[in-house]
Amino acid sequence: PAAPAALGVEGLTVGYAGAPVMADLTLEVPAGQIVALLGANGAGKTTLLRTVSGLLTPRSGRVVLDGEDLSAVSVEDRVRRGLAQVPEGRSVVAELSVEENLHLGALWKIPARRARRDAVEAMYDAFEPLSRRRRSLGHQLSGGERQMLSLARALIAEPRVLLLDEPSLGLAPRVVAQLLDTLRDTARRTGLTVLLAEQNVTSALSVADRGVVLGLGEIVADAPAADIAADPALRHAYLGF
Ligand code: ATP
Repeated sequence: PAAPAALGVEGLTVGYAGAPVMADLTLEVPAGQIVALLGANGAGKTTLLRTVSGLLTPRSGRVVLDGEDLSAVSVEDRVRRGLAQVPEGRSVVAELSVEENLHLGALWKIPARRARRDAVEAMYDAFEPLSRRRRSLGHQLSGGERQMLSLARALIAEPRVLLLDEPSLGLAPRVVAQLLDTLRDTARRTGLTVLLAEQNVTSALSVADRGVVLGLGEIVADAPAADIAADPALRHAYLGF
């Protein structure tokens, strides 16, 4: 596996028309850490992930991968450097089988077919339910299976940093637990760095090392996951429960 990488955003101001969604935001995700990015609907979690992956250009500030400023680096080159974004369920190709989807995810990284087949098998080991659905087409999968395939498709290319947007959306609690457990196991095994945006606070904190709470365009809490989970005032003020 590739060496883990540290991700940072420094003094990031980003928005659409009008007032910025976040201003002068600074955040560090050390190599190998899983950081849960929390915050109410509209707090800016997706906006932050899209800025890191390069889909949005900040008004000021920068994204840094292992100390290197990515401002002038295209979305594609960020992917080549190991930055992978998993958008909610959408990276699955509906007309291709599970197996074909996995091959497609690995094609650019592992051109040799034999080696790629081994990588696909490794994903079946990590994501048991997918191994029973090898021949099923993308559109035949359940929401949970699709989300699992999205994650596996990103992981098969051995990214160094994974940006995950609401992997729990629309899934049953048991499926969420399974998905996040697999994510955590894989991250521990490979040293993967993860920024996990989630509305499902309890699930996210259960797999994260650290929680960062976004509120009104700024970071209102940044603490070990267990501390945030145990802070009723914080949960009540910013996370709505
Ligand atoms: P959610 O969980 O609902 O996706 P979020 O924390 O990810 O919330 P964002 O989607 O980043 O929040 O949205 C932050 C703010 O930016 C919101 O006020 C939203 O309305 C606004 N916004 C998001 N996307 C756009 C867009 N394409 N054009 C204009 N405004 C946008």
